[in-house]
Amino acid sequence: MKKIAVLTSGGDAPGMNAAIRAVVRMGIHHNCEVYGVREGYAGLMSGNIQLMGPRDVGGILQLGGTVLGSARAPEFKTIEGRQQALGHLHKMGIEGLVVIGGNGSQTGASALDKMGFPTIGVASTIDNDLIGSDITIGVDTALNIALEAIDRLKVTASSHHRAFLVEVMGRDCGYLALMAGIAGGAEAIMVPEIDFPPEALVKRLHDSYARGKTNGIVVVAEGSRYTTEMLIDYCRHNDLGFEIRSTTIGHVQRGGAPGAFDRNLATRLGAAAAERLLRGEHGCVVGLIHSELATTPYEQVVGRTKGIDPELFRIAEIMAL
Ligand code: ADP
Repeated sequence: MKKIAVLTSGGDAPGMNAAIRAVVRMGIHHNCEVYGVREGYAGLMSGNIQLMGPRDVGGILQLGGTVLGSARAPEFKTIEGRQQALGHLHKMGIEGLVVIGGNGSQTGASALDKMGFPTIGVASTIDNDLIGSDITIGVDTALNIALEAIDRLKVTASSHHRAFLVEVMGRDCGYLALMAGIAGGAEAIMVPEIDFPPEALVKRLHDSYARGKTNGIVVVAEGSRYTTEMLIDYCRHNDLGFEIRSTTIGHVQRGGAPGAFDRNLATRLGAAAAERLLRGEHGCVVGLIHSELATTPYEQVVGRTKGIDPELFRIAEIMAL
């Protein structure tokens, strides 16, 4: 291959820029032209594609978000949308594509690959629900941001004998909530995957208070079965011991500067994706499995999500003693 392209798609994640930089510089190292596609699949369908040089990706390693932009592009789910994208790629003589993104993005990459255009994925989502990487780009930074908020809330909560519900991101996946809860010493963690009813939460907080705790932290995943409003309402009508408040961390969690872990992970995955694509490998996602670089075929990735480890829940509960 002499010409490849790279795009970022779906939810942005800290470290995506480091991955773009790695793809561009590794491609150029192998005497290949590397093109950047703006706004994910939307830019692929509209032909918003530009040649990138090593200096175009300078100074971005430390930035959150994605300099290429990202977009939700539902038209790419249609064969017509993908044919339009293929038209631009063929016209420009581009022979392969690196897709940096999560589940939806890799589903799109797989659809394009099935149409005969070689694509390779880079595992990137703060949710960590993508099969093909034990940990995906952005997770570590997003976790640290959530943790900083939890630590601060704990300080103020202790001063006032309060309980705080802290809502973190994760639509269908409780990984961030679980890991932030363990690292932040939460009394309870509410995730979509496990049913923990409001009655159980009230009992947990009440018992914590009775055991002498001066604060209670409850980490709630965005996609939890009970909304924070619902939980606050229920808690306020039952005798907790603690006064209760809620905070939503929300998108603050996405926009942070990538930490060392995400920069290095993204650099390794981006570089490997470019090299493997140039060697003729495609139809798979590049990730880190048992600390080693690994590729997983799209068939094992698309339409599935990684579950969360129940053992971690057991530990979280015991640690809340
Ligand atoms: P993420 O990659 O973060 O999971 P999304 O689920 O929003 O993000 O997907 C990003 C984009 O990937 C969508 O806007 C769409 O362009 C493309 N995509 C998602 N699902 C499919 C699909 N089944 N077929 C083709 N393209 C898809």
